[in-house]
Amino acid sequence: MIEKCPYCFEEVKERTQKCPHCDQYFLDDIVEVDYHGAEKKRCLFCGKMIFHEAKVCKFCKRWLDEVDRAADDISKLEDGNEGEIKF
Ligand SMILES: [Zn+2]
Ligand SMILES: [Zn+2]
Repeated sequence: MIEKCPYCFEEVKERTQKCPHCDQYFLDDIVEVDYHGAEKKRCLFCGKMIFHEAKVCKFCKRWLDEVDRAADDISKLEDGNEGEIKF
């Protein structure tokens, strides 16, 4: 099992209070995975390669789901659909 930061999905070797990669405090549990998730994507803010599952960029330390939420709001506005709630 590999232990990974729940935010940036980088490997965490020791159980510490704070991720050494993205500087987030571990408020959520460390993720345990039995594979090497090698899939990567580009950070929307700085363009560096980060893990696909990552919520926080380890380089610029910004939360990527901020963008998702913003994009959601925009698409709702653009659609003009009412009463359709997606979870
Ligand atoms: Zn991290
Ligand atoms: Zn970044």
